Amino acid sequence: MNYSQYYPVDVINGPGTRATLFVSGCEHQCRGCYNQSTWSPDSGEAFSDAMVEQIIVDLNDTRIRRRGLSLTGGDPLYPGNLDAVLNLLRHVKARAPGKDVWMWTGYTLENLSPKQRQVVELVDTLVDGKFEQDKHDPNLRFRGSSNQRLIPISQLD
Ligand code: SF4
Repeated sequence: MNYSQYYPVDVINGPGTRATLFVSGCEHQCRGCYNQSTWSPDSGEAFSDAMVEQIIVDLNDTRIRRRGLSLTGGDPLYPGNLDAVLNLLRHVKARAPGKDVWMWTGYTLENLSPKQRQVVELVDTLVDGKFEQDKHDPNLRFRGSSNQRLIPISQLD
């Protein structure tokens, strides 16, 4: 997996103060996408084990308390990203207890593959669905268009 940006301190993408990773790779081609430079899975930099360690350190940093980790892009559930994202989330859940994970994806919850579901089981809040320009509403919190949903995965049965 490649990533396009990593912000160790971010107050925009999700609630509270967070660490945010923008991964590379997305197949949805939404009209009006604000992040087309991330569509190619080859864009950006290689996501390494050192990046996993950096994220764990940042989440556990007591000087600037992070509420959690946001994963966006690109699409964290792009098929070529699943192994790396699953590995990252396993580290986060085991080594940064109490930190919540928010994930943005262009897929919808009902249409995930078994492997995508495996990843989403480690997510607390999923923002799902493609960006639809005719449903764009700048007043929406944490999502760009009204078809997208904030789904509290950790509260589902
Ligand atoms: S899912 Fe997100 S990154 Fe992918 S094309 Fe749509 S808006 Fe752009």
